[in-house]
Amino acid sequence: MAALLARQGHEVLIYDEFAAPEPVGSGLVIQPVGQAVLAKIGVLDQAIALGTPIRRMIGGTGAARRVLDVTYDPSGTRYGLGIHRASLFETLLSAARAAGATLHPVHAALSTDSGYIDFAHHRGGPFDLIVDAAGAGSPLTPLKARALPFGAVWATVPWPDETDLPTDVLSQRYENASKMAGVLPIGCLPGSSQPLAAIFWSLKTATYERWRASPLSNWKMQAATLWPTFAPFLEKLEGHSDLTMARYRHGTLFRPIAPGLARIGDAAHQASPQLGQGANMALLDALALAEAVARQPVGHALAAYVRSRRTHMATCQMLSRFLTPLYQSDHWLPPLLRDRLFAPLTSVPPAPRILARLVSGDLVRPIRG
Ligand SMILES: Cc1cc2nc3c(=O)[nH]c(=O)nc-3n(C[C@H](O)[C@H](O)[C@H](O)COP(=O)(O)OP(=O)(O)OC[C@H]3O[C@@H](n4cnc5c(N)ncnc54)[C@H](O)[C@@H]3O)c2cc1C
Repeated sequence: MAALLARQGHEVLIYDEFAAPEPVGSGLVIQPVGQAVLAKIGVLDQAIALGTPIRRMIGGTGAARRVLDVTYDPSGTRYGLGIHRASLFETLLSAARAAGATLHPVHAALSTDSGYIDFAHHRGGPFDLIVDAAGAGSPLTPLKARALPFGAVWATVPWPDETDLPTDVLSQRYENASKMAGVLPIGCLPGSSQPLAAIFWSLKTATYERWRASPLSNWKMQAATLWPTFAPFLEKLEGHSDLTMARYRHGTLFRPIAPGLARIGDAAHQASPQLGQGANMALLDALALAEAVARQPVGHALAAYVRSRRTHMATCQMLSRFLTPLYQSDHWLPPLLRDRLFAPLTSVPPAPRILARLVSGDLVRPIRG
């Protein structure tokens, strides 16, 4: 957002609460739709150099039955880009800085008021436009998202030598929908040539403290029993704090604007990452808002931004809400439907093509108008 607006000639100030940009969090997939935005910002080649292509998503149950199998594009032209958050962040921040935006760390926004932003000890502004990109915990958004019962513990680990998992596949293993382990190849961190994997293990948020209190070796054994292929990815984990609990929420602001203020990304809509669209939607929001601002005065641009993103955003949110219980729930029915009904159907044309478009993020037009 900062890079795009600064290139239009606007003076852009980025406030962030962190003390310094550093590698936090784990990996994610930038889908073809998000890659198109990175290309518009001019950083796609940089992101591709750090990330790694994900050509297929495969998930199976303990009985070795394949229940998820999506190939992005048989010709190999389109793929997801597995990338560490820090690599994506550094890529975008360098573009924003190169375009003339300035970063002001240690600035936790508390509230906004008539074009001003209030921080702990001072007030910034006045601004023609405030963009709330402060994510799921933004204090500036009225969005009240519903906490989902399941989240996941995530870790970034070196890609082990002793695995035969393909490096261009997001691989998952399930037991019903109450257990899920996954391995996502995510390329390297900036300045390193060590290939990495983001690994995840589905966990009910209510059981997190119990999980932390029991020896990590117990969990490693449980995970390796569910999916022996997972074991080499767990070897470098020494303690519970090597894994981060991610809590998932669901919620949508259908009017993410107010006079002089627009919300983008998780500040406007949140979903569990089953469909892998959150960061991509944040990128699309940024592009849609920047394009709207380029065409008209801010007052009209905000309404145009909302209109241009409404259908795609609502579709992704709805599909994500529908898909999540198939992969994360205690109930017996959703995984039964997944395994016995949806899995066989997904191999019948045109389902593979529709599924590929769904995960690519462009089943419906991402930005209208
Ligand atoms: C475990 C997990 C896996 C995921 N996998 C995928 C995936 O594969 N593909 C995908 O597209 N999405 C994925 N997502 C979703 C994706 O991470 C989010 O949708 C995306 O990061 C949202 O981007 P954002 O810029 O809105 O917010 P964030 O990435 O949360 O960034 C918010 C920024 O605002 C700053 N900030 C916060 N509060 C304040 C404040 N008060 N004042 C100033 N600054 C503040 C933060 O420091 C941060 O820099 C995943 C999410 C999780 C939890």
